[in-house]
Amino acid sequence: MAQTVVIAGAGHGGVQTAASLRHNGFDGRIVMIGDEAGLPYQRPPLSKAYLQGKMPLETLWLRPESFYLDNRIELMPQARVAAIDPAAKNVTLGTGEQLAYDHLVLAVGARNRLLPLPGADLDGVLYIRTLAETDALKPRLAQARNIVVIGAGFIGLEFAAVAAAQGKSVTVLEMTERVMSRVVSPGMSQHFSSWHEKGGTQFRFAARAAAVIGENGRAVAVETADGARIQADMVIVSIGVVPNIEIAKAAGLATGDGIVVNEQLLTSDSNISAIGDCAQFPSVHGRRLMRLESVQNANDQGKAVADRITGKSAAPYAAVPWFWSDQGDQKLQIVGIADGHDTVVVRGDAASGAFSIFCYGGGTLLAIESVNKPGDHMFGRRSMGEGKLLSAAQAGDPAFDLKKFLQG
Ligand SMILES: Cc1cc2nc3c(=O)[nH]c(=O)nc-3n(C[C@H](O)[C@H](O)[C@H](O)COP(=O)(O)OP(=O)(O)OC[C@H]3O[C@@H](n4cnc5c(N)ncnc54)[C@H](O)[C@@H]3O)c2cc1C
Repeated sequence: MAQTVVIAGAGHGGVQTAASLRHNGFDGRIVMIGDEAGLPYQRPPLSKAYLQGKMPLETLWLRPESFYLDNRIELMPQARVAAIDPAAKNVTLGTGEQLAYDHLVLAVGARNRLLPLPGADLDGVLYIRTLAETDALKPRLAQARNIVVIGAGFIGLEFAAVAAAQGKSVTVLEMTERVMSRVVSPGMSQHFSSWHEKGGTQFRFAARAAAVIGENGRAVAVETADGARIQADMVIVSIGVVPNIEIAKAAGLATGDGIVVNEQLLTSDSNISAIGDCAQFPSVHGRRLMRLESVQNANDQGKAVADRITGKSAAPYAAVPWFWSDQGDQKLQIVGIADGHDTVVVRGDAASGAFSIFCYGGGTLLAIESVNKPGDHMFGRRSMGEGKLLSAAQAGDPAFDLKKFLQG
């Protein structure tokens, strides 16, 4: 068993790895190096309850400070892994300090994709990924009147829901024809855009932002490629993320759209693992190399790596992916990967605000998207985890008993 495990990145995946190592009885040294300040925190509330002011800072911490002390996890905040030397098995920090490892876990996440447009550096152009960014944004949101959100992905829409509920004028620009187009079925996109529109949010689809227009250094409008100008004293950029692969690449590890790992989450160096947002792994569910940005993925991959290091299990990583997004009173929960689906079955009544869309590809259930239907979601997690896949006919029959199906 490795004697010193160094974890680069103190986010969801890093903290889970450290916790699982100790849970599995690992008695060696654990050093966790994170470049953000303070205790490691939960990211999802940054665009939800924390942004709304409904969640105090103390409840954002992933674990209390005592957890790290009690479990002998040497947390190094505001420290950056600047380089890895796989041959010497050590990392160099930004300060020049070197740390030796027996096993290194890269849990370095992803960073905001920056707006590549004129005016992107104007005051009022903001992002939501870190606690520091959300803390900077919150008081400005209170002052803002006209907001343009660039990108109709989960985070942009969650932000739009919060801002519209505060009475702000919100316009969302989206390059594609529908919201969350990368991850949900067209029917689910339709449900969510209608819901946002009812709350006052305006959408411009197939719209490309071309520039942010400023006056005296402050953003005042966003100009689209077709020449329209939309007033904006706040511009939220939510156009996706870029995985942090640079230190891995410089160390000669295989990289692509992430740090490439095998089914055991090992990089091309057998003493280095990569997990979470930064890792590109062979998925048994998506049936291809993929990178997932979700708490489930970061946590489950952290657990899998800890299991392997401690000899508990070396099973290939096969956890069923799941995700959630809270937009106002609409709780979207997704299990599986809908990508490549060709048929959908709606279970429940979309107009009632509580329903699920079952997505099939070649007759096989690929994903279940649920809105305010936690029972369907939990059913999906269990049934897909056990490989018991509901047929389209069964899903479409409102009288079909899901509980009995699981027992059977
Ligand atoms: C606003 C927001 C809302 C979200 N909502 C949801 C949601 O509702 N549901 C869901 O499932 N997921 C959600 N996500 C995604 C989820 O938070 C991420 O998938 C998850 O945080 C990934 O965990 P991670 O450990 O891989 O990366 P992170 O949690 O990002 O942690 C990586 C850490 O490593 C640090 N780091 C980077 N490079 C270095 C280095 N060289 N040295 C040291 N430290 C380094 C980073 O600064 C960061 O602190 C949301 C994300 C955001 C930003």
